[in-house]
Amino acid sequence: MYEDQRLMPPKNLLPVADALKRVLDAASPIADVETIALREAFGRTLARDLLATRTQPPFDVSAMDGYGVRHADISTPGARVKLVGEAAAGRSFPGEVKAGECVRIFTGAPVPQGADAILIQEDAIVEGAMIGAREPIRKGQHIRVAGVDFRADEVGLKAGARLGPAELALAAAMNHATVPVTRRPRVALLSTGSELVEVHERPQGAQIRNSNTYSLAGYATKAGAEVVQAGIVVDDFEVTRQAIADALTQADVVMLSGGVSMGDYDLVKPALQALGAEILVEKVAMHPGKPTVFARLGEQVIFGLPGNPVSVAVSFHLFARPVLLKMQGASEIHLPRKRAYVTRQVKGAPPRRSHQPARLQLRDGRAKAEPLKWGGSSDLVAFMQADALIVVPEDCASLNAGELAEVIQLPS
Ligand code: AMP
Ligand code: MG
Repeated sequence: MYEDQRLMPPKNLLPVADALKRVLDAASPIADVETIALREAFGRTLARDLLATRTQPPFDVSAMDGYGVRHADISTPGARVKLVGEAAAGRSFPGEVKAGECVRIFTGAPVPQGADAILIQEDAIVEGAMIGAREPIRKGQHIRVAGVDFRADEVGLKAGARLGPAELALAAAMNHATVPVTRRPRVALLSTGSELVEVHERPQGAQIRNSNTYSLAGYATKAGAEVVQAGIVVDDFEVTRQAIADALTQADVVMLSGGVSMGDYDLVKPALQALGAEILVEKVAMHPGKPTVFARLGEQVIFGLPGNPVSVAVSFHLFARPVLLKMQGASEIHLPRKRAYVTRQVKGAPPRRSHQPARLQLRDGRAKAEPLKWGGSSDLVAFMQADALIVVPEDCASLNAGELAEVIQLPS
């Protein structure tokens, strides 16, 4: 991987893949299963396979508005059949369609006995109660046969599926009013920094607003977690240690931002050590997000994410999101990766792997990644536009315009 040995990450920088492995190995799936109402289940992860408890459609239904006919009756030019009744969605035609007969039928209506095709109304010749076809018709046309979607006892959704809009609809169609899901991981968010004030407070002198817990709350919620806002902690060792200890009493995962660099006031690591946590990751060969810290204390895990708003977001998506999804037993825990042509030169950050915020687009039939003009890891305004990260490999000083690159798609 490193053709030029000088570009090998220094010993104290952990390659991204190794950091991810350590993080994932330390996170154990949550065993608790909750049975919840389907309408509350958006974004949750199925704990067990979901079987269809009925066949869909349960009977042959018409896919169009028109006439339920016996195709043999109507396939000869000039043939006419007699209208004898009607079938609508939710209301069957009670009898059988006999030779020489047809029924008016609407989309979703059960196809009556005897009928074997739907003549759509646009193709029908209507002469009072006598119906003919403009064009020859095909046996079985416009009929959705019973079970074409799924049959009773088929597995429609597998354990580990995340319930999005389509999955919820399928669960409903399969007849489930409630679904077994894994418990949401509880994530306590802490912002470290004596410079930080909350949005409802008035910043004084050298203070700035806390913004990280807002992005993190959104990202974590989107990843299926339940968020506890544990507040802002000033850069004091004892205060930090106590705040982490308190957060650990109410969460599976504690996520801090800031306080993980090399400064005198970067106290997250010492506080974690004092609490007896095992530090598994500190300093990753990546940009932005190098100071990312990850630790384990028993079954609980702690992320010390960087302070800069963009670094927080990148580190969250590379490491914390997969952990939250693994905890929920999700079958797909990684963000989709694509190949795309970069539209402008992108600088790398050897020996670190760089992640450049970008916009992904399909242009002239090709996936293209447009690197955003950004002012670095504090440029929240530029990052807001990003829907992807261009990955610039560890040993690459820059990617040129038109080069094919790996791109990580951010959740929309
Ligand atoms: P640190 O890693 O604590 O040195 O923080 C790096 C930079 O990110 C500093 O400029 C901090 O002011 C900024 N920062 C840290 N935490 C937050 C936060 N919660 N919201 C916004 N900016 C932050
Ligand atoms: Mg700080």
